[in-house]
Amino acid sequence: MSHPTGTPGHAASIHTLPSYLDPQHLGPWGIYLQQVDRVTPYLGHLARWVETLKRPKRALIVDVPIELDNGTIAHFEGYRVQHNTSRGPGKGGVRFHQDVTLSEVMALSAWMSIKNAAVNVPYGGAKGGIRVDPKKLSMGELERLTRRYTSEIGIIIGPSKDIPAPDVNTNGQIMAWMMDTYSMNVGSTATGVVTGKPVDLGGSLGRVEATGRGVFTVGVEAAKLTGLPIEGARLAVQGFGNVGGTAAKLFADAGAKVVAVQDHTGTIFNGKGLDVPALLAHVQARGGVGGFAGADTLSNDEFWAVDCEILIPAALEGQITQDNAGKIKAKMVIEGANGPTTPEADDILHDKGVLVLPDVIANAGGVTVSYFEWVQDFSSFFWSEDEINARLVRIMQEAFAGVWHVAQEHKVSLRTATFIVACQRILHAREMRGLYP
Ligand code: GLU
Repeated sequence: MSHPTGTPGHAASIHTLPSYLDPQHLGPWGIYLQQVDRVTPYLGHLARWVETLKRPKRALIVDVPIELDNGTIAHFEGYRVQHNTSRGPGKGGVRFHQDVTLSEVMALSAWMSIKNAAVNVPYGGAKGGIRVDPKKLSMGELERLTRRYTSEIGIIIGPSKDIPAPDVNTNGQIMAWMMDTYSMNVGSTATGVVTGKPVDLGGSLGRVEATGRGVFTVGVEAAKLTGLPIEGARLAVQGFGNVGGTAAKLFADAGAKVVAVQDHTGTIFNGKGLDVPALLAHVQARGGVGGFAGADTLSNDEFWAVDCEILIPAALEGQITQDNAGKIKAKMVIEGANGPTTPEADDILHDKGVLVLPDVIANAGGVTVSYFEWVQDFSSFFWSEDEINARLVRIMQEAFAGVWHVAQEHKVSLRTATFIVACQRILHAREMRGLYP
């Protein structure tokens, strides 16, 4: 116990700096490192362990070869990163996207550690991905890709090791293939190896809507605390999938007006409020908001300057930057996506008095219901949807109230407050477990 403490100066002198700690290295991992630096002064004696958070525990890169329908062989790069397992097994989604990189998956896995600790579910943080445009694959190709990837990462995942789930461009069907592949390899059906499965395969009621419901829940809590009426509030939403679509529906049901929606097919606007159920049906049928009758079209840039009270980025990271943050008119930004706001943009929004509800608390509803799914799989006893939703809302409200309190106490942003709560939990667990050997 009386050994030299791991101060950064001491650490730097005896071990080499991993490439991903290079301060010149930007991108999502660089942003995450900046967020950790911002919170370090608030960690007290636990700051001794902070280096733990700056290095993923384990990162696996796999080659995923598949035979395409035309008989040729294609290779894709896949990843699974376990950022931290101090509080429990790794947990986090798998994303299929042509722009996925190791650095991005590392950052997403770290944000999972923070998120899981922030809502106090007993998990560490992990994330996976394949660098592929799944829209270019047939169903058969997508299945072979998913199965080969699962088999390759099978050496580090498992119901008590690391539990994948859906993320961008992955869904219940892909989770069913992952569960089946893992189960075939271990020789018994292991439903708890992934969450976000179809309900008939050990999935949980309410899981598909859970992230959007969590976004709505923290939005309502923050609105109460800041005196912003939801009734009549104008909303702009980027991304209209599970997260953005569900959040928009719940806000509209509560009396808000969804005035603008942007996705990869374009930006639509209606100052009187879009018909959300009709838009959900249109997106279901057409794959995007483009071409929706009953709305005007805006340029993608104009979206950010729309007059509204609430802005919900629910697509990809790095969307709110120093180039567009100044134009934002909303009073509140609720981050449905992971990492949508860069640190420079965070500062601009803060100076303008815009309240940002950060991803690491705002979109934690998905993993919270993933946790319920995993518990239900272990006990083979399933809860009603009302029970799931009520438990979800309770966890989100309590976690948000805790973070709000820390933000007031230290006079910091909600992002820094969430990091304070989460990093303390992770590093306290780290300290109690101690270093092995
Ligand atoms: N992909 C979701 C997220 O980013 C859910 C992860 C999970 O349920 O494990 O939070």
